[in-house]
Amino acid sequence: MDLFEHQGKELFARYGLPVPVGEAAFSADEAVAAAQRLGLPVVVKAQVHTGGRGKAGGVKLAADIDEVRRHAEGILGLDISGHTVRRLWIEQASDIAEEYYASFTLDRSARQHLGMLSAEGGVEIEAVAARAPEAIARIHIDPVDGLSAEQCRHWVRAARIPGAAADSVADVLAALYRVYVDADADLVEVNPLIVTSGGEVVLLDSKVTLDANSTFRHHDYAAYDATQTRDEREQAAHAKGLQYVGLDGSVGVIANGAGLAMSTVDVVNQVGGRPANFLDIGGGANAEVMAGALEVINNDPAVRAILINIFGGITRGEEIAVGIVEATGRVDIDSPIVIRLDGTNAAEGRELLEPHLSDALMMEPTMLDAARRAVDLAGAGDGAGRS
Ligand code: GDP
Ligand code: MN
Repeated sequence: MDLFEHQGKELFARYGLPVPVGEAAFSADEAVAAAQRLGLPVVVKAQVHTGGRGKAGGVKLAADIDEVRRHAEGILGLDISGHTVRRLWIEQASDIAEEYYASFTLDRSARQHLGMLSAEGGVEIEAVAARAPEAIARIHIDPVDGLSAEQCRHWVRAARIPGAAADSVADVLAALYRVYVDADADLVEVNPLIVTSGGEVVLLDSKVTLDANSTFRHHDYAAYDATQTRDEREQAAHAKGLQYVGLDGSVGVIANGAGLAMSTVDVVNQVGGRPANFLDIGGGANAEVMAGALEVINNDPAVRAILINIFGGITRGEEIAVGIVEATGRVDIDSPIVIRLDGTNAAEGRELLEPHLSDALMMEPTMLDAARRAVDLAGAGDGAGRS
């Protein structure tokens, strides 16, 4: 679950971290009113769940009210890497002397948290990593031991943060780690972490990703969930409680289990097709769930063939077969469906499906065969003009 920059900064502020004062705005009039309250100059910042806003023209300094209006009008509606700007953050401008980079994330392979700090901030960290990997000081943090003040000071020295700012940066890092842990975040990134010309350390940007599985102990996260930007397909799937991620191909994918769904996406790619989505219907593939999944996929106008890949485990093949037959009876499907059914009681399941097979409902013995057939059908459907 991604936060907007300003939501991240508001979270930081609750931990006493220094962030610029600002206000959210949803129109040019609101932006102007905010700037009048905040005092000029201000920075007008696009709020979208993606980075690189500065380069895309989504971050603009405004010295007077006319400029605030002009920038707000220019940025609202702007497309930044496929995200349309609907919300702005107006904040008091900062006088930047130095730009650093700081982040905490999870290093799954090390089973520890990973902190990254660089005196070369304000640019994409990937670019720094490629050009000068030694400019990024990394620190692994044991989740049980945590991060001590001593470690922070050492880390700051390793990153060659200039002496004048070193102590303040070390304090910021210690507090930022507390935010990362307390908030159950998967990522907290500040780029740039600045030193102003007056020598103050300020967190000028924020990128925060929260672990959606932690909402049970963070009741305020419902408000963040409400501001997630999902595409229409993802919204519809989310409303049905389905694990769905929209992709941009033409083969709709339904599988049981996240691992199998990912493999299915891979196999579609492997045989030269492009998946329209990832969809995991989970353990029980009853008619209700299957119908919901088919509905979501059928509403995607890019879909030209549907691949249902089921491996029966605890759920038996015949239950799945009944679910598919019932679901296809309930939902009017525009695209041909290819089924691969294997695992527990697969033979019984296939037998149940047999009488229903047609040009619209096909079955293949293996995952690879089924993927080939679905990709074939998706290709053949090109230009057929399905609605
Ligand atoms: P991003 O491009 O999405 O990472 O957005 P940022 O919030 O990091 O802003 C991009 C760049 O705009 C920063 O790296 C700064 O150089 C610049 N910037 C942002 N806020 C201010 C500000 O208050 N004053 C000045 N002078 N520059 C700013
Ligand atoms: Mn940034």
